[in-house]
Amino acid sequence: MSGKFVISLDFELLWGVRDHADRTSYGANVLGARQAVPRILDLFAENGIRATWATVGFLFCETKDELIAALPDARPAYDNPRLSNYGYLEEVGKDERSDPYYFGASLIDAIQKTPGQEIGTHTMSHYYCLEDGQTLAAFEADLVAARKLAEQRRIALKSIVFPRNQFTQAHLEVCARHGISHYRGNPIGWAYRATKGAEQTPARRALRLLDAYSGVLGSQAFQPGHDEPIDVPASRFLRPCSGRLAALHPPHLAVIKRGMTVAAKAGRGYHLWWHPHNFGRGLDANMAGLKVIIDHFADLRERFEMQSLAMEDF
Ligand SMILES: [Zn+2]
Repeated sequence: MSGKFVISLDFELLWGVRDHADRTSYGANVLGARQAVPRILDLFAENGIRATWATVGFLFCETKDELIAALPDARPAYDNPRLSNYGYLEEVGKDERSDPYYFGASLIDAIQKTPGQEIGTHTMSHYYCLEDGQTLAAFEADLVAARKLAEQRRIALKSIVFPRNQFTQAHLEVCARHGISHYRGNPIGWAYRATKGAEQTPARRALRLLDAYSGVLGSQAFQPGHDEPIDVPASRFLRPCSGRLAALHPPHLAVIKRGMTVAAKAGRGYHLWWHPHNFGRGLDANMAGLKVIIDHFADLRERFEMQSLAMEDF
């Protein structure tokens, strides 16, 4: 069996980071993400790359009126109110032109028009499945609202990426009831296990960082799951090339290339993921890094018939 190279992007703009950042602290990255999306799409199109764009439902709306009308009645009541994106609706502008941080319909159009791209969901509101105060009922309402918005654009959501990679078996069962056939699970091991934010300790983060630049925890080449929804687990987060860690980008890319080669030779999967806003600063350097990875994939396609797949293809 040939190896499979999977890419998924968590497309969220400011909604994905609002609990710890805002326009002032992270706005440049968000605006940079808007430049990154078309360049990533061009690179994918030129190289026959399929990818899943797991998109926050709020981004589908063209205006604030449309957003307000699409909100579900049941909303997450997290113990920590900062986590709820419903708490930031007051600061949202009128439409995408006046507020490019919170709206993304034109970018979703561009993704839809690019061959080979799957649009999946990153939940309606960037929902946190493991945070205290959330309920299955609120999660289900969130997912139903996201599906409705997507259907208005003739998109049937099949794949989900859970925000902060938080989920339980019960959340998966809700997904299965609503047409979601694929999800991105977490890499194997203690450092990558799904937890609520408070349990993401410095030790876990440090081990993930070490692994990103050394590959010490292994290739993370995967075999997909069998149960529905099907687990298409993450192999590695493509870290941004920026700031103090820019010098370490080449070894990081080398870790990714080694993992891809393992998957290609063994007929396994390799699943790379990141957020467009990770490319938001230093776009050229980040695009150059991605090009290195795509060129490596083209080589593996040539030598081992490795395939480029979206999550829904499994
Ligand atoms: Zn996210």
